[in-house]
Amino acid sequence: MLVVEDLHVSYGAIAAVKGISLKVKPGEIVALVGSNGAGKSTTLRTISGLIRPKSGSVVFEGKNLVGVPGHKVVGAGITQSPEGRRIFPKMTVHENLELGAFLRNDKAEIEADLDRVLELFPRLKERISQKAGTMSGGEQQMLAVGRALMGRPHLLLLDEPSMGLAPVLVDLIFDTIRTIRDQGTTVMVVEQNALAALRIGDYAYVLETGQVKTEGLARDLLNDPEVINAYLGG
Ligand code: ATP
Repeated sequence: MLVVEDLHVSYGAIAAVKGISLKVKPGEIVALVGSNGAGKSTTLRTISGLIRPKSGSVVFEGKNLVGVPGHKVVGAGITQSPEGRRIFPKMTVHENLELGAFLRNDKAEIEADLDRVLELFPRLKERISQKAGTMSGGEQQMLAVGRALMGRPHLLLLDEPSMGLAPVLVDLIFDTIRTIRDQGTTVMVVEQNALAALRIGDYAYVLETGQVKTEGLARDLLNDPEVINAYLGG
């Protein structure tokens, strides 16, 4: 579904991604884990068209995405729920969710997807008329994921969904990501919380200083002594 090959991305003189290759198959959750500055977010933002790589290829459902601007990448079927959430604080939950469907005009289907998102996140249903900026961090995170789903992506990209959340909410978000996958949306998730990501992931890549250090089935990485020592707190 997604094939990234030998990706190189720099910010001026700083090389952030140095030859990353990865694959996402339909119906999977693929996790990108690794420590601060490993290049996880940069990889994700390059796939979603926010950054242009120096070299390498990004092919999604047979189409080359390098040089394709972000809004067109959304049209191609990839949406990203960004790190730091970026919901519209002055708009209501409902308006934020509607905005997630801005490229669509299939009204009945949009309504059906809205129902589905509110079923996935009952907390959002209770707060449908609340201004998004007044919600808690965890609720805003749910809204960001819900809004990304309203674009009905083939591939959902999630950047640090656990960031700033209490453990019980981390579990809730990750359970919901699994449900999203089970309902047919392919997911790629970037996480510093390697344990949470490897638990729900099907396949995973461990990044270190802009390169893939290890890759494999997530359940195998959970039992890999090197991964345990370096990323799972021993
Ligand atoms: P984290 O988990 O801390 O978010 P990450 O693995 O997502 O880390 P990136 O955000 O992709 O890492 O950053 C990779 C490298 O690129 C880092 O060294 C970072 O300082 C650098 N970098 C990221 N964004 C910029 C930018 N806008 N300008 C300059 N350097 C940047």
